[in-house]
Amino acid sequence: MSLPSPIPSPIPSLIFDAHLDLSMNAMEWNRDIRQPLIEIRRREIGLKDLPDRGNNTVCLPEMRRGRIGLCVATQIARFSGRFSRLPGWQSPEQAWAQTQGQLAWYRTMEEAGELVQLRSWPDVNAHAQLWRSSPDTAKLPIGYLLSLEGADSILSPKHLEKAREQGLIALGPVHYGPGIYGHGTDDAGPLTPRGHELLQQMEELGIILDVTHLCDESFWDALSRYRGPLWASHHNCRALADWNRQLADDQIRALIERGAVIGMAFDAIMMVHNWTHHKSKPADFQLKMEKVCEHIDHICQIAGNARHVGIGPDLDGGYGTEQVPMDLNSIADLRSLVAPLTAKGYQPVDIDNIFAGNFLRFLAEHLQ
Ligand SMILES: [Zn+2]
Repeated sequence: MSLPSPIPSPIPSLIFDAHLDLSMNAMEWNRDIRQPLIEIRRREIGLKDLPDRGNNTVCLPEMRRGRIGLCVATQIARFSGRFSRLPGWQSPEQAWAQTQGQLAWYRTMEEAGELVQLRSWPDVNAHAQLWRSSPDTAKLPIGYLLSLEGADSILSPKHLEKAREQGLIALGPVHYGPGIYGHGTDDAGPLTPRGHELLQQMEELGIILDVTHLCDESFWDALSRYRGPLWASHHNCRALADWNRQLADDQIRALIERGAVIGMAFDAIMMVHNWTHHKSKPADFQLKMEKVCEHIDHICQIAGNARHVGIGPDLDGGYGTEQVPMDLNSIADLRSLVAPLTAKGYQPVDIDNIFAGNFLRFLAEHLQ
């Protein structure tokens, strides 16, 4: 009797990561992400100020090792003045200043040759080709597209114009709870009148609407008004993880009809039913990367193809190894999705589309 042949596990030539809070990690977690993973962990031994200290999975050397040569990198700063239940700044002006500080870190990394900002499709395409054709990526700069998670920091239409000039290509109007422009995760209600104006200006400026974190009412309100391109940068399926943070099937259908790509998040709380925040552990659920494939497959079955899913893991987005699949220690492990996807019957072309091709096609169509 012959043994079954091993499942092929080729290394993808390029991974496009649709959601990384790189500057938040640098400027708020005080991580020098140019350092090796182990060194960042070593420097956090004994720190107790945040639950994910010492559990980080993202740094630039590991991104290069894992061929994550392109990412959507965020600015993020919420306003919580009236909403003290959630952390945030006491005024939108402080939030704006915080995002500008985060941008200063991105600029400094560009000067150091670590990152390169991509603003247009020709930029993105050339950078993708460079990474795909380079056997050794150890010295290549990582390309980033700038996005804003939660728009509380946008003080006025002039500030959005300024952000666009700075290279902002995508924007999610809200984050958790109530915001200036609408209602986010765990909240209810449509976009505010200022949210409606924001969408109109985004359309005029050619900014992609990121629907991630919109609560259901704000989601449908946004889709009925906004005619421009939209994606969901870090978002899983409610059918597999029952919480309003995830997309219901009718929302997935509506996004597919609009040509959107949905980036799969690797946060355990968004992957399984009944996760208890700060209590559950990945081992309680025997949570492995394979679970991500179930979310991918759920969307592909609704779509009837593999053209609307990408990778938006949100790694080190306020949590670390205590809240990700047990077989993920580093962002370089994203590549290990190849084996379970292959086992599910996905062809190499589908897998390449999921790793990078779908978001690249979206940007070819929509990034001016
Ligand atoms: Zn998020």
